[in-house]
Amino acid sequence: MTIPAVLPTYARYDVAFEKGEGVWLTATDGRRFLDFGSGVAVNSLGHAHPRLVAALREQAGKLWHTSNLYQVPGQQRVAEILIAHTFADTMFFCNSGAEAMECALKMARRHHQASGQAAGRDKQTIIVARNGFHGRTLATIAAAGQEKYLEGFAPNMGGFVHVPFGNLNETRAAIDASTAAVLVEPVQGEGGIRPADAQYLKGLRAVCDEFGLLMILDEVQTGVGRTGTLFAHEQAGVTPDIMAIAKGLGGGFPVGACLATEHAASGMTPGSHGSTFGGNPLAMAVAEAVLTEVLADGFLATVNTMGARLTDGLRDLAARHPAVIEEVRGVGLMLGLKCAAGLVNGDLVKAAMAQGLLCVPAGDNVVRLLPPLIIGEDDISCALSMLEKACQSLGLKT
Ligand code: PLP
Repeated sequence: MTIPAVLPTYARYDVAFEKGEGVWLTATDGRRFLDFGSGVAVNSLGHAHPRLVAALREQAGKLWHTSNLYQVPGQQRVAEILIAHTFADTMFFCNSGAEAMECALKMARRHHQASGQAAGRDKQTIIVARNGFHGRTLATIAAAGQEKYLEGFAPNMGGFVHVPFGNLNETRAAIDASTAAVLVEPVQGEGGIRPADAQYLKGLRAVCDEFGLLMILDEVQTGVGRTGTLFAHEQAGVTPDIMAIAKGLGGGFPVGACLATEHAASGMTPGSHGSTFGGNPLAMAVAEAVLTEVLADGFLATVNTMGARLTDGLRDLAARHPAVIEEVRGVGLMLGLKCAAGLVNGDLVKAAMAQGLLCVPAGDNVVRLLPPLIIGEDDISCALSMLEKACQSLGLKT
């Protein structure tokens, strides 16, 4: 046997962790790391947050799982919180970002198919901004349309048309009688921390309204406070019809949700979709605790303050090391360092790791900084000095 016991689909770093506390992780070999990756934007409240630990322990002692055959009161509670703070009238709970996106795609198609209008049956195509990432299921890799994720998995699922991210004219030109919806991330995460500008999102909203299309936002990475507002689209002053969320919602417990307006969800009748584990009592107990923390007075204001501090510090760093960092970009605590030509982002990630700082590579030669939303000024100073040393250690002329 030469194949590893765990399917080798990941290129993993040679480190494993056994304990986490706040923004810090301890590896099995005793090394400590400042976690500015948050398990790719997941540990929104850091590690072992007392409120999350208590919520999970309490629920674990009562009831783990029943099934969506029955009422699940925790789903009702989380849904009510999200409805009170968003555009949504309803939602479906699932376990991951890709599943939340699957629900969004199914919902958009079904909305038109079930509309009762003859033309609705032809509306099956979703226009998607290029360079995005929506998950690794067959539908979501087809939706994103990136060759590197599709390779070898043909036949690809049809029904997606791709247009450049940020380009309203091309989006409009791609609309025809078959168009059901438009899908975009408000800040492309895997694509390299590329924020959509407010005018573009406003324009997409207007185009969707004009042509009777559904606007789908993938806020799997941007959602639940990551960009300094509960959801990133709030900053553009638009609301979608459908939104996929996951990652930060569970703070490390697997949970996702697809939020929608009543109008968009009109086709999702009993039997149209389902999930065995989706929204189980454990996940709901944790999600409720996460939302309660993130929505507490002053929490998001502090995310913005810390985001601004970190951005300023990174800009100073970039100015001192132009041969390493070409640009600092992002929103709130979703930040990216675009590496200078001649440097591969993975090398900066490794150099930071050697200094004790975890961050995450992304497309477009970017290193992502996605710290827990609870970071303080000391954590920022510590991360900046680790990055300073990492830049120096790369030995590039600055
Ligand atoms: N959508 C976006 C924007 C993401 O960043 C991701 C994951 O990185 C996904 C969807 C897929 O989420 P998951 O890995 O939980 O399926």
